[in-house]
Amino acid sequence: MIDKIGIVGAGQMGGGIAHVCALAGLDVTLLDIEDAVLARAVDTIRGNLARQVSRGKIAEGEAEAAVARIATTTDYASFAACDAVVEAATENEEIKRAVFQSMLPHLRNDALIASNTSSISITRLAAGTDRPERFIGLHFMNPVPVMKLVEIIRGIATDQPTFDAFNALADRLDKTVAVAEDFPAFIVNRILLPMINEAVYTLYEGVGSVQSIDTALKLGANHPMGPLELADFIGLDTCLAVMHVLYDGLADSKYRPCPLLVKYVEAGWLGRKTGRGFYDYTGDVPVPTR
Ligand code: NAD
Repeated sequence: MIDKIGIVGAGQMGGGIAHVCALAGLDVTLLDIEDAVLARAVDTIRGNLARQVSRGKIAEGEAEAAVARIATTTDYASFAACDAVVEAATENEEIKRAVFQSMLPHLRNDALIASNTSSISITRLAAGTDRPERFIGLHFMNPVPVMKLVEIIRGIATDQPTFDAFNALADRLDKTVAVAEDFPAFIVNRILLPMINEAVYTLYEGVGSVQSIDTALKLGANHPMGPLELADFIGLDTCLAVMHVLYDGLADSKYRPCPLLVKYVEAGWLGRKTGRGFYDYTGDVPVPTR
């Protein structure tokens, strides 16, 4: 059973994972490269818990107890007692490999490792550690406290007790599991990103405007957000990166990124985070850019 958990990376995802684990009663040790990043992450977690309290989802005492269960560190020696570690550092294979090398000497022999990677091969990451059978993919969705799904991805060597332990953890976090095999982009992004890319092609070929494409999918397919609005939310650079992973990893031309998506990324129009993507967010309401 996973009771003490280490988390590497205190960004959007690592902070969210720390939040839900602490709320579920686990002891959390959150690691990042700088104290300032950790302080910011704990502030964000405190703010998000306060929002849950104000909406009546949790009691004030639960929020306080959750924050008290999160310890922060920049030193891997603090992971010595952990039953498992979830890696949620920057999406870069070299960084992740270096994280595992720094971590391994400090872990218990029986400690499990999970990576929250959106696209890197679990089998390849696992092969770079001393415990490929106790290594798994645990892909949370953003924002972690809100989204119900977690994808669990077995590497080729992942053993059954490891799979069972992370399944039980997902259950304890009140998440629903979708099991995926270890192929590029797993399930959610394998299906979602080609749909977004196709929406960009639909715009590029002049089949519809930004407005008509988003309205069509919202009202015609009952999607809560249109695909272009969703692309801006995810970040167009991230969308492009996932299309590259699919294109390279599956070697099928059906995954070729739309040239218009490439052009937006080259312009630095990355969506909400830069104030402009398929919509302009600088005014009171988003205005389509095409
Ligand atoms: P982020 O940039 O918000 O956070 C990454 C954190 O990793 C930063 O705080 C950074 O300081 C830290 N970091 C970088 N190098 C490190 C090192 N050597 N040691 C320790 N910490 C280090 O990124 P994010 O959006 O939280 O993504 C993290 C992971 O989660 C990635 O693998 C990403 O693919 C995956 N993911 C992201 C999303 C999403 O929507 N953002 C969804 C699912 C999965």
